[in-house]
Amino acid sequence: MIEVQDQRLRETICEVGRRMYLRNLVAATDGNISVRLGPGRFLCTPSGVSKGWMRPERLVVADAAGALVSGEGRVTSEIHTHLAVYEERPDVNAVVHAHPPKAVGFSLAGRSMTDLVLPELVMSLGGIPSAPYATPGAIEGNRVVRALIRRCDAVLLDRHGAITAGVDLLDAYHKMEKIEHAAESLLTACLLGGPRTLEADEVRRLRAARDAYGYSGLAWIPDD
Ligand SMILES: [Zn+2]
Repeated sequence: MIEVQDQRLRETICEVGRRMYLRNLVAATDGNISVRLGPGRFLCTPSGVSKGWMRPERLVVADAAGALVSGEGRVTSEIHTHLAVYEERPDVNAVVHAHPPKAVGFSLAGRSMTDLVLPELVMSLGGIPSAPYATPGAIEGNRVVRALIRRCDAVLLDRHGAITAGVDLLDAYHKMEKIEHAAESLLTACLLGGPRTLEADEVRRLRAARDAYGYSGLAWIPDD
C-alpha cells in the first residue's frame, strides 16, 4: 500500500526524470534519482529504465546497504554513491545523478569547473569540483565522492557525469540544471577567448550575500 506522501514523492521523481531526459541531462537509461524516506529507507529509480518514461509504481525502495526493500525492479547500480552522500550529509534528503554532456566535456578535456566566474552560481553552488575517476557503478565510486560532498552540494565525476545533493528533490535537481547551464556558458566563453574570473573582493561579497540570503546546503568557495 503506497501512502499519499509516498505517492507524491514518486510522482515528483518521475517528473524530475522526465525533465532530465527532455533537457538532455541523460540519454537512454542513464542517470538515477533517490529520496530519503526515513532512517535506512530510500526511494529510488530502478535500474535499466529511461528517466523520461518512468511510472510511479515502478520505483523501488532500498535500505541503507542498497538492498531492495520493496518494488519489482532492481535497485539502481549507482545506489552506493547515493548512500555515501546520505551517510556524509544528514542534511541531504535527495540525490540526483546525471550525465550532463557539456559538463562531462569539461572533465573529458581535463578542464576544471572550479573557477568562480558566474556570480549567481557562486552564491548557490560555488565552483564545481571534480572527483577522480572511478568505474561507473563500481563500489569505489562512493569513496571518490565522499571527501568532496562533505564540503559542497555538486560534484563532477571524471569522464562520467555529475551528482547533486539537496534538502529536497527539486533542490537537488535544480543544482543539476545549474551545472549544465554553467558549463554551456563556460564553453561559450572558452570559444570566445576564455572566461574572466571574479575578483577576490567580489567573491567575498557574494559569500556574504549567500549567508544573508540563507541559501541551504554547502557551496564550494575557497577561503582567501
Ligand atoms: Zn552514471
